[in-house]
Amino acid sequence: MQCEQSSGPLGERAVFDKTVDRRAFLQLAGLSSAVISAGIAAPAAAQSSLGSSAAEGRAAGEWAKSDLFGLGVASGTPRAESMILWTRLAPDPLAPDGHGGMPPRSVLVHWEVATAEDEGFRSPVAVGVALAQPELAHSVHPQVTGLKPRTEYRFRFRVGDQTSPVGHFKTLPMPDQDVEQFSFAVASCQAWYHGHFTAWRHLANENLDLIFFVGDYIYEYAISKEDNLKRQGVEVPEPFAHTVQTLEQYRLRYSLFKSDEHLQAGHAKAPMVVIWDDHEVENNHAGWWSEKGTEKAHFAYQRAAAYRAFYENTPVAPEAFPNGPHSQIYNAFDVGRLLRFVNVDTRQYRDGVVDPSDVEALNRETRSILGHRQERWMHEQLQNSPAKWNVLTNSVVVAPIADDKVDQWDGFPSSRKRLLQTMRNVQNPVVLTGDIHQHGAVELWGDSGEPVGIELICTSIASDGDGRPGSSSADWLKHPYVKKMDQRRGYILVDVTKKQLNAQFVVVPYVEKDDQAPREVAFTYRSPSGSRRLIEKGF
Ligand code: FE
Ligand code: CA
Repeated sequence: MQCEQSSGPLGERAVFDKTVDRRAFLQLAGLSSAVISAGIAAPAAAQSSLGSSAAEGRAAGEWAKSDLFGLGVASGTPRAESMILWTRLAPDPLAPDGHGGMPPRSVLVHWEVATAEDEGFRSPVAVGVALAQPELAHSVHPQVTGLKPRTEYRFRFRVGDQTSPVGHFKTLPMPDQDVEQFSFAVASCQAWYHGHFTAWRHLANENLDLIFFVGDYIYEYAISKEDNLKRQGVEVPEPFAHTVQTLEQYRLRYSLFKSDEHLQAGHAKAPMVVIWDDHEVENNHAGWWSEKGTEKAHFAYQRAAAYRAFYENTPVAPEAFPNGPHSQIYNAFDVGRLLRFVNVDTRQYRDGVVDPSDVEALNRETRSILGHRQERWMHEQLQNSPAKWNVLTNSVVVAPIADDKVDQWDGFPSSRKRLLQTMRNVQNPVVLTGDIHQHGAVELWGDSGEPVGIELICTSIASDGDGRPGSSSADWLKHPYVKKMDQRRGYILVDVTKKQLNAQFVVVPYVEKDDQAPREVAFTYRSPSGSRRLIEKGF
């Protein structure tokens, strides 16, 4: 789905006029209303009826004293020639209705993309206008196309006389390109109320091509000083003292978490690939199954609200635009011939929870953590991959740990068996995982102990507050394929070349007191191409 974009050394005004004409043409040509309502492009009709200057004039006066871009900017869904840009207008992010202080009407948002060197946006390579609608909490997701592969760009938004912070991204290489090296980070689990986002502060200073967020971007729990507010020096207003279930509550959660300056700095630094885990909806839910016993008909409403708020707050692809309680977030892309990323959704389509003592039900062939359609798709993506390294981005631990861990792949043994079988025939398979709030360097072994692939488990950004070095999880460490763990907060930095993968497990010693903790490295592992093993560096 392509929206307006123009390139070339034209002046901004000329480019703008051209894009409006082109958009008007797309309208006449029957551009689907789904595209428009997804906040991707402002329809020509909306522009003329609002009157671009009138809408902007009101905006400029109305919000003169407040920052419309209170939730920052982001980019995501990276491709060789395109990128999704994201922002959500919120001059008062914590306004109780979830609308960030915006009035109940649509606002035009201008965006522009320039080369990395063009600091003043003097010659933008692409500009356009997106419509920020109250129905989508004034979020926009313009997709800029026609970009050059493996090129660094900067972007910003404008409403009236207010300009957003500048974001940065690098496009991917072409899928058939020969690529020497690629770097990315993995992050997960950011319970804002458990600690400062010091990990995001350090992430924003890393040299990166991409950031993967593998789930628990928000948490739905009630926040209270007595129970769980560990982030010192902050207060949260009353609306946060309740468990999240409604659309306005989900929106408010994203607003709170995304108001963090370090998170915003990290998002402005590099494009994001975001998948969800359970807490974007509700703890440990499985498809239509809620551990609170919520009936399916009611849970469907909750899931629809949660999916909508997730879409509104992440730079995901147009395919993820929710259709009620359904949203396709799984996707795959290649980084030249070096890497293929297969990013899966282990929540929406999984079968319900079974009692782990019911061995027959647990091991049933048809039982799936991905649902049959996605599972088939995933196997095809892996089997047909020409890439040197094949990365499965997923939200819960694949490695066998304990029979009672039924929320992870341990609860879906036949899905895991099929995955490991496929991985044997794939070059250098790597799994990225979050969820357990500990770093873990793990190998995936077959039944007779032969190495099949590796799993890099990422600790939390903040969830569980201050951590300690090492791991107390005896049930994990007893397995010879679990190499090392660490309970501190942080992220993983991964550097991949044709010869080897290098994974640095970054930690911060504390997060509750303030955001000043230094960046440390808990441990570093490498995996030589072809080895399917993890070797600790420095030993
Ligand atoms: Fe978590
Ligand atoms: Ca989780």
